[in-house]
Amino acid sequence: MTAYQKPVPAPDADSAPFWRGCREHRLLLQQCKGCGKFRFPAAQFCPACRSDAAEWLEASGRGTVYSWIVVVHPVPGDIYRDDVPYAVALVDLEEGVRMPTNIIGCDPRYIRAGMAVTVTFDDVSAELTLPKFRPA
Ligand SMILES: [Zn+2]
Repeated sequence: MTAYQKPVPAPDADSAPFWRGCREHRLLLQQCKGCGKFRFPAAQFCPACRSDAAEWLEASGRGTVYSWIVVVHPVPGDIYRDDVPYAVALVDLEEGVRMPTNIIGCDPRYIRAGMAVTVTFDDVSAELTLPKFRPA
């Protein structure tokens, strides 16, 4: 496997469990023990009730497309030039959080708002797995 050349996430104390879960092909979300709401991205305090008590639970991996763009024109020097056309999307998960991601596994022209999608995991390197979504 060649070295992954694109920008990579920098896990911190709050997000490290999320990225470990991706390595295991499990989509983990923080759930507040105070009010029960899921949150993403991970944070020390719940934005709804300010509780710092939380646990990590595996999400269903199911969601719907909220919004998206399709990148079709690379610019000179663009490290994503070999990927065009590709879709960058916001997916609403069943658990009530909105996640930035890519939609793969379909022609991006056929992506629609509300389209049902399911998580899939892209092992881009030995250390990094990215959660992406494909049509359900
Ligand atoms: Zn809460």
